[in-house]
Amino acid sequence: MVSVHLENGTVSVRRRGARPRRPEGFALIRLLAAGVCNTDLELQRGYYGFCGRPGHEFVGELEESDTASLRGRIVVGEINLACARADCEWCARGLGRHCPKRTVLGIVKHPGAFAEYLTLPDRNLHVVPRGVSIEQAVFAEPVAAACEILDQVKIPKGREVAVLGDGKLGLLIAQVLQAHGARVIQFGRHRDKLRIAEAAGVVTECRPKHLPSRAFDYVVDATGSAVGLQSAVSMTRPRGTVIMKSTVHGAVPLNTAPVIVDEITLVGSRCGRMEPALRLLARGTPRVDDMIAARFPLHRAAEAFAHAATSGVLKVLLTATASSR
Ligand SMILES: [Zn+2]
Ligand SMILES: [Zn+2]
Repeated sequence: MVSVHLENGTVSVRRRGARPRRPEGFALIRLLAAGVCNTDLELQRGYYGFCGRPGHEFVGELEESDTASLRGRIVVGEINLACARADCEWCARGLGRHCPKRTVLGIVKHPGAFAEYLTLPDRNLHVVPRGVSIEQAVFAEPVAAACEILDQVKIPKGREVAVLGDGKLGLLIAQVLQAHGARVIQFGRHRDKLRIAEAAGVVTECRPKHLPSRAFDYVVDATGSAVGLQSAVSMTRPRGTVIMKSTVHGAVPLNTAPVIVDEITLVGSRCGRMEPALRLLARGTPRVDDMIAARFPLHRAAEAFAHAATSGVLKVLLTATASSR
């Protein structure tokens, strides 16, 4: 089968190799489409010393499973493979995403989705609802990451929320919080990207001269930059909350005095549940079709990665077409 291999910063395509073996409790899934995420680009840059098959945003058709109701269905999957043991404190609390023994699809010790076939435990899978296209469903994983904010922080409807950053995740977060009923103001640097959020009712500011100071009870940093957190803190009112969505490698400069004096709560936020994400996508929010920048067949993965790494480019999809076989 065709699969993508990442090693020492180089993306290569392998055409030999058998379909993966399906362990008990796991499903064999035939890839339909996958998304290249910033995390994949970071793996390429050498973070986590990654070597192997990347890919964690995917939609596939389930070919083999012990669960009869799943066979033949179009599925997406939760990317954290928890140990699921009864004696695991985290799994027993339903927090498998924090299981210390977990592996992660395409990131930590579980071969990723950039291949014609992948495996995941049945319990990780969610059937894509009617009305959600295959390409839209590719966004289930990052939309779930945006929805995680609402699982962690109670944001009252009608309240103003600032979102910093207009990359892929920033756009999804702004639209998810707006759909929740918050009044979102998104600060970004790209007029064309901000228009996608504007179409969903988000108020935007492109390259403002000054960011407002101590103006919001809730601020989300999705800049992906080392200075985003400091900006987010200075925009937050006393007793407000900063939600940290930028994974930055290395140390981040932060003056902690305002955090302490203004009693600001910092909330780290990562992956989320798929159910609310799929419900939102079935309602047509966020407007993910507008975020697809390009499509490449699996065997052109190197080009897809290069395109995704180009400044200003939103979501690049990999598709399993007949031409990739
Ligand atoms: Zn991702
Ligand atoms: Zn566990």
